[in-house]
Amino acid sequence: MGRRRISSIAALLALVAACGCGKRGTQTSKETGENVKPADVDAARIVNADRDPGDWLTYGRTYSEQRFSPLKQINDGNVGQLKLAWYSDLDTHRGQEATPIVVDGVMYFSTAWSKVIAMNAATGKRLWEYDPKVPPEWAINLCCDVVNRGVAMWKGKVFVGTLDGRLVALDSATGKPVWETLTIDPKYRYSITGAPRVVKGMVIIGNGGAELNVRGYVSAYDAETGKLVWRFYTVPGDPAKPFENPILKMAAKTWTGEWWKVGGGGTVWDSIVYDPDLDQLYIGVGNGDSWNPKFRSPHGGDNLFISSIVALKPETGKFVWYYQETPRDQWDYDSDQSILLTTLKIGGQERKVILHAPKNGIFYVIDRVTGKPISAKPFTAINWATGVDMKAGRPIFTSFARYPASNAKPVTPGPLGAHSWQPMSYSPRTGLVYIPVIEAGFLYRGLKDFEPKKLAFNTGINMVAAEMPQNPAIKQAILNSVHGELLAWDPVNQKPAWKIERPRPWNGGVLSTAGNLVFEGTAAGNFEAYRADNGTKLWSFNAQTGVMAGPVTYMANGEQYVAVLAGWGGVFPLATGAVAIKGGEVRNISRMLVFKMGGTASLPPVPKAEPPVLNPPPMTASKATVSKGQQLYQTYCSTCHGDAVVSGGVLPDLRYSSALANDEWFNVVLRGLLEPHGMVSFSKALSHDDAAAIRAYVIFRAHQTIEQEKASAKK
Ligand code: CA
Repeated sequence: MGRRRISSIAALLALVAACGCGKRGTQTSKETGENVKPADVDAARIVNADRDPGDWLTYGRTYSEQRFSPLKQINDGNVGQLKLAWYSDLDTHRGQEATPIVVDGVMYFSTAWSKVIAMNAATGKRLWEYDPKVPPEWAINLCCDVVNRGVAMWKGKVFVGTLDGRLVALDSATGKPVWETLTIDPKYRYSITGAPRVVKGMVIIGNGGAELNVRGYVSAYDAETGKLVWRFYTVPGDPAKPFENPILKMAAKTWTGEWWKVGGGGTVWDSIVYDPDLDQLYIGVGNGDSWNPKFRSPHGGDNLFISSIVALKPETGKFVWYYQETPRDQWDYDSDQSILLTTLKIGGQERKVILHAPKNGIFYVIDRVTGKPISAKPFTAINWATGVDMKAGRPIFTSFARYPASNAKPVTPGPLGAHSWQPMSYSPRTGLVYIPVIEAGFLYRGLKDFEPKKLAFNTGINMVAAEMPQNPAIKQAILNSVHGELLAWDPVNQKPAWKIERPRPWNGGVLSTAGNLVFEGTAAGNFEAYRADNGTKLWSFNAQTGVMAGPVTYMANGEQYVAVLAGWGGVFPLATGAVAIKGGEVRNISRMLVFKMGGTASLPPVPKAEPPVLNPPPMTASKATVSKGQQLYQTYCSTCHGDAVVSGGVLPDLRYSSALANDEWFNVVLRGLLEPHGMVSFSKALSHDDAAAIRAYVIFRAHQTIEQEKASAKK
């Protein structure tokens, strides 16, 4: 009987990733008979990547991270004949965010749970696989799914950061670990999801966790030995202790109260970009922790270096300059988004610039030499600021945006940002930047009191106030307001050139090519190509799953290939509830998709799934219990199982759980029954009564859903 119940819950969890739970760090050799030569990537080769356009050597292809390829065998004249060359299914069913690296005919990429795979880039034949065996229970320490955005290559090694904070070097020929180092203090809820970058023989890596009370930093490790070379903290620590870096003394003057007790934030979870022209490293720094500034810096202050770009010297990590895009951020406006380097002719002068479109919705052109903004204009509708005062270099805030009182409308952008981790691309051929834009607001209301809680998101925000209202008209208005765009932006004139409206937000990263093409995957489950100069749609492929990752292109055996990692997930389908399934549910089918002219492969049909039936037990709990359960659900559960108990298609929708009807619920929530799947025991945070109240709220939501469906069927 007990076993039967377990297996029915396990069936509900069919969408949860399989994950390794034994000895950490295993590697599988494939009897392929293929000789893999060590990937010979060094500084000269990455700096001169344009002489090697058939390879994709680093996260953004070149150090400038433009994600522009000079290849044009596939172009605006023939892309209609682009067909699937091969595909390869993955063993996880969680978000896939990685950009593959291609070196000398071998493709290397990371997947969910920080696993790494090497394949023959022409055939998809697997050469080796590596699983770092991330403990599944570490998933509670992640803001945004068990994702990984990529690997880095250097002199015969592949580097990957793992969810539990390790940096691992693998032999690129065999996939066998060479060294491994722990980059975090596991007492804190850090994680690594970003791709490392290698500069001058050092592997540079940051971390995430600024919703979970951490202090951000970026570290450099010797690529040969894994020894720490330097570390730069992005926010000051306790000023009673010595500052790790002289600039932090200055930064500490921009904080008040006891910020170090809540972490401070400023995590470097994505962009780390090397500028060989100026020998500088640029890091994108994330939001303040907690989000609510009242609890991290109560008496004001800009809170350096949160929501900033910071320039460092790569050998030493010495500070060079900073530019803070969102002083005293309180909306989760990370500045971690794609940092692109180029030279633009502005006012008749050649300027070395950074192009940046962070979460706050403003497009910045920043002078790489001085760190000063040259121009800054909103690239989408924003209401937290009216623009940027260019003399002061600071945004002009609206009073409305600062945690408005009741009845206020949502702040735009919300915490997903106007642009998140999905990489943008710059084509020097068209002079345009291609941005996957998100339009989604959020109702920020601060909590009155705040004590960081175990196993919860600790943002200092009232997550119940932010919950989707169940009034049908209000709900529909919110759903209508949320959408996405593929935006082609002219950075010199700071204005749109063209845009493609997308009914859903959370579309894919972008690739542009010299073939006058732009490639992007969509939340609706397609992979598409557009003319780069005018946005005419030229090609579309039914990918059967949401596509979020950045595509790449490369040459193998004289033919051009286009590749993208498909697989729906990340923070949007996990956390946003009804918004995530606007326009219908998208399932996760994680696989590598690779295309070439006249390819002959085809995807198997999507297996038919029985539509789930809502069958909750009767409502017996009091209103007060349901309300308590709502508070607790929104605080502890919503960030993975979805706002207001609506799943976005990746993790189980609890309204359908068979455990609602019996005590299995407590075995899952309090006794860790499903810990091997990443569902940790909440016994350190929740009592039996708390877990019962959450169950009562989930049952309430299941009944409410049945009523709503009946009402809409009548119409
Ligand atoms: Ca953030």
